This record gives sequence, C-alpha cells and structure tokens, in this order.
Amino acid sequence: MIYSHSRLGTFENCPLKFKFKYIDRLESTIEGIETFMGSRVHETLEKLYRDKRFQKNNSLEELLAFYTQQWEKNWHENIKIVRKEYTADNYKKMGEKYISEYFEQYKPFDQEKTLGLEERVTIDLGLGYKLQGIIDRLALAGSVYEIHDYKTNMNPRSQEELDKDRQLALYSIAVKEKFPDAKKIELVWHYLSIAKEMRSTRTEKQLEELKKEIRLLIDKIERSKEEDFFPAKESALCAWCEFAEFCPRQKHLLETAKLSPTQFRKNDGVKLVNKYVHLESLKREFLEKIEPEIEKARLDLLEYSKQHSIENIAGSDFIARIRCYPHLSFPPEERSEIKRILIESKKINEVLDINYYELAKKLNSKEWDSKLVKKILSHALKNKNVRIYLGKKKNE
Ligand code: SF4
Repeated sequence: MIYSHSRLGTFENCPLKFKFKYIDRLESTIEGIETFMGSRVHETLEKLYRDKRFQKNNSLEELLAFYTQQWEKNWHENIKIVRKEYTADNYKKMGEKYISEYFEQYKPFDQEKTLGLEERVTIDLGLGYKLQGIIDRLALAGSVYEIHDYKTNMNPRSQEELDKDRQLALYSIAVKEKFPDAKKIELVWHYLSIAKEMRSTRTEKQLEELKKEIRLLIDKIERSKEEDFFPAKESALCAWCEFAEFCPRQKHLLETAKLSPTQFRKNDGVKLVNKYVHLESLKREFLEKIEPEIEKARLDLLEYSKQHSIENIAGSDFIARIRCYPHLSFPPEERSEIKRILIESKKINEVLDINYYELAKKLNSKEWDSKLVKKILSHALKNKNVRIYLGKKKNE
C-alpha cells in the first residue's frame, strides 16, 4: 500500500473508515460540501499562480468567474450539506470571500517565486518506508524554500499545534531531498476563513523523530491489516463520513431516520430495542419474575445485531449499542510457560508477577512485537464479552 498523510490521518480518526476506503475500496459518491468548496478554492488559487508563471495576471473578477465555472462544472447531486441551516449558496459565497481576501492580501503575488503547484512528492522515511504527498504550492523567497498550504476549514489551529503538525513537516523532508541547497524551509499555512498566514520550521532532530513516529504508525496499520482488525471509532466526523451507509455504527440509525413514524415503529430493530428498554425499566420492581424475559430480549437483540451486521440499533427513545470486547483468559496450567516467555523477552517488569489483567490489556493494545504477542496467545483462551448499552437518543 502506498501511504500518504491523509491515509494515515484516516486510520487514526477511524480504522474502519480506513478499511472501507483503502482496503475494501468501497465506492461512495457522497462528498461533503466543505470538501467540494475547498477543492474549488484550491483550483482557483492554482490557476492564479499557474497563469502568473506564464506572465498572465488575472483580475479578481476573472478568478471569481473561474471559481463559479468550476463550481457549476463539478456540482453533482450527491453533495452532502450536514449543517442543514446553510445552503449550497452560502458555501459558494464563503469560497468567494476566501479568494477575494487572499487576492487583496497578496496582490501582485510577487513575494516569492513559485517552483511547483499541486506538486506530487515522495517522502523517504528511511528503512524502506515511503510516503506520498501533494504540496499546494512550493515557492522560493530569496534562499528560503516555502511550502504553502491553503486551509478552507473554519477552525484555525494554534501556533503550538502547527509547530507539531505532521503534514507540511513531512513534505519538507521531500523538499530537502529534491533541493540539497535548501538550508531553510518554512512551512506556511493560509487560514483563508480568517485571512491569516501562520508559519513554522522544523529542526533536523524533529524531522528524524517524525520519521520514526510515522514508521511506527505504518507498522501499526500493517499489523491491523494482518489481523484484519479495524475497529470503528465514532466521533463528530461520522456526520461527514461518506461510508456511513456501510458502517455498523451508523447504518440502522440512517435507515430508520428515513422511515415514516408508522414504518419506524414497525421496524424489527426498533421493536427489539423498545422491548428491551421496557423490560429494563421494570427490572427493579419485578427482577425475579422477568429475568428470563430480559435475557431473551437481550439474546434477540444480539442476534439481530449479528444478522444485520449492525452495532448501534435505534429505538424510539434509546439507542442500543452492542459492543464486543476481546477477552483473554490464561488457564493455570499454561501460566508457568507464559511467565518463562515474559522473562526471556524482558517484558516481565511490565506485568509484574504476573498481573493477568494487565497482561491481557498489553496483548490487546498492540504495543508489543507481534511475534511475542502470537507466542503468548498460543497459551491463552480467546473469548468475547458482549455488552448492550442503552443510550438516550438526542433530540434532533
Ligand atoms: S461512520 Fe464513523 S464510525 Fe463509521 S466508518 Fe465512518 S467515521 Fe468510522
């Protein structure tokens, strides 16, 4: 697999989305309007600097006309607007404002010489690890190489965060290699929503540490691939996820949200959740009598989750979240051998004398070398703990 900064970021944000996108290669035509608007702004700024290299200066009106043309040419029916209170036109105007303010701020655009636009680079991380990336604009100001990146999101980051940012720092490794005369490289972010430019630099030592960090992250992804372990990681980003209709955490919620109130109440999943919620509410008063009924409702819910590959099931007022945790147990007859392996591999201090709960945590965390993990696991029993959590639904 060819890695890139955005692939790594996708894995960190949600391993399951990474699997959908880069391993299963699921097709999704859904595109968030923020991404769509960002692409059109990038294209317009690329045109500005490309024409400039050919000694053609565009007026602001010409650039805005190009932006509108690109917007209309690329528009498609699967563009998703998550923030329902805003229209496509609001987003189009935001892009126009970003371009106009950038134009006024930097005209006549001769602060530096442009060396590359949408420049594809390969980053050598050492030990055979490589990464690919695309630099929005590479420029030369005097003897300083500058890596420019346009940001169209509404959340500018602090200087402290940018000083630790990975993306442009990684690109600087490739620039250093391509231009051995590059003594100084500046990382430049243009936060277009607030017309603010922010800068940072990296030392050799920081870049070496970054290479190491990324190599470890790639190893982690490769291990996940070997074990086919890509857990879903829910977050606010799920609202923008183009694979939500395939996701076990989202698909039942999305499907049932489209139903009429009568269809919703008749949905099998909804009925099972409502029944389970009802029985749980009676538990305190009638535990003895209804315990078998609760257990049956629980098993029905688990079966429904398994059959339909869904982990979040919508009910009228609650969502049932089915979570399955790997559970390792270590039979007493295997413990002396496990202890011997841990002593031999000098890991014994990490799970002193042996705390089997801590040991299971370590093995599940994927921190240890996979060979060692496999060796210990051959002496363990693999089970699963399945739990149902009921969460109150948020009001729309
Ligand atoms: S909807 Fe959320 S949890 Fe599901 S794949 Fe997308 S980001 Fe991950």
